Amino acid sequence: MLSDIQFDQRHIWHPYTSMIQPLPCYPVTSAQGASLFLQDGSELVDGMSSWWAAIHGYNHPKLNQAASQQLAKMSHVMFGGITHQPATELCRRLIEITEPELDTVFLADSGSVAVEVAMKMALQYWQGKGELRHQFLALRHGYHGDTFGAMSVCDPQNSMHSLYQGFLPQNLFANGVDIPFSGEWQEGAMEPFSRLMEQHQQEIAAVILEPVVQGAGGMRFYHPEYLKRIRQLCDKYQILLITDEIATGFGRTGKLFACQHAGISPDIQCVGKALTGGYMTLSAVMTTRNVANVISQGEAGCFMHGPTFMANPLACAVACASLDLLAENRWQSQVAKISDALEQGLRSLEDFPDVHQVRVLGAIGVVEVIKPINMASLQKFFVTQGVWIRPFGRLIYLMPPYIIQPEPLARLIRAIRDVVSRPDILFG
Ligand code: PMP
Repeated sequence: MLSDIQFDQRHIWHPYTSMIQPLPCYPVTSAQGASLFLQDGSELVDGMSSWWAAIHGYNHPKLNQAASQQLAKMSHVMFGGITHQPATELCRRLIEITEPELDTVFLADSGSVAVEVAMKMALQYWQGKGELRHQFLALRHGYHGDTFGAMSVCDPQNSMHSLYQGFLPQNLFANGVDIPFSGEWQEGAMEPFSRLMEQHQQEIAAVILEPVVQGAGGMRFYHPEYLKRIRQLCDKYQILLITDEIATGFGRTGKLFACQHAGISPDIQCVGKALTGGYMTLSAVMTTRNVANVISQGEAGCFMHGPTFMANPLACAVACASLDLLAENRWQSQVAKISDALEQGLRSLEDFPDVHQVRVLGAIGVVEVIKPINMASLQKFFVTQGVWIRPFGRLIYLMPPYIIQPEPLARLIRAIRDVVSRPDILFG
């Protein structure tokens, strides 16, 4: 009989993997706080929060309690023609903590589906207005998920999706969102964007972007002024603005939502990942009363989407508990402490010859090296150092759970410091 690992490698796909040359895979048996425990008993400090999600750490007593209390009542029920308290409570809370204009909520089951829903809302909005607007304007280096609509608004040069070009709806992409988060704003920076908008104003249903932090498209942090100007242009041309806060939402960038860096409000906002503290698969699409009304008064008379697991009560109950933890407001000082430690520990790495740039914002630290990393060799090195850090492309990055303590955080930083002087491991 195959061992579990052998079986896994032979039969189970992982994110972006081959079934012929599978990448090494590490069996995790439990997780607690900011630590993952492997089958051999070793402990890894988690630098990834399971891709932005596990902000309160793993196995949190309050999240566990919310899940088990809800489990004893009802794990799932259809949302067609039925409602329940975990959903109403969650939506009430989401409306309270987001911009006042966002007052309707569609609950979906993953980030990518939230993006599909947001795009469909924009299309139905314009149908409702009696205008055929079918294009989206997105940003180069943007990433919004792996489903077809979402892929169509990811940077077409993104290696994750370039294969599918030709099968995807054709959208528009603006170059030049290049001024870094704390860089000096330059008048004229909006030129490429505003030109595209002006040219295609009659066709563009919505602009879609990740506010301030472009994640999987390169971990780039751009100047908040872009957001302000894009909001103004959207108003000028009456184009909807969709913000994808799936990665940035719930405090990661130092603000509860990244849009707050620019003081703007979108017409449609997607959240996911940390919505349940990374416990369950749940996302939400929030929109304005105006958008909701136009869709509802349109030809179809309703919004055409309804997933089976919509508003899953277990996920909603855990999301409410996660929002309770955020409302205690410790996240702000936790994120600030992580930010300081990342700044102090990583900034000086810019002096190393193999390091191109270091970027820190909120509880996100990025070390960009000069050429593509050998992922398997670097991952193995990190595991031997007792840390879970998952590099991609030229990027080594940290986004630890907010509850991480100073010593484990120092261990994560040390592991990165140790490896930047080791091209044999980095580029293997
Ligand atoms: N948008 C952004 C900004 C993301 O980072 C991701 C996930 N990496 C998604 C959408 C897709 O979310 P999911 O993986 O839950 O489908």
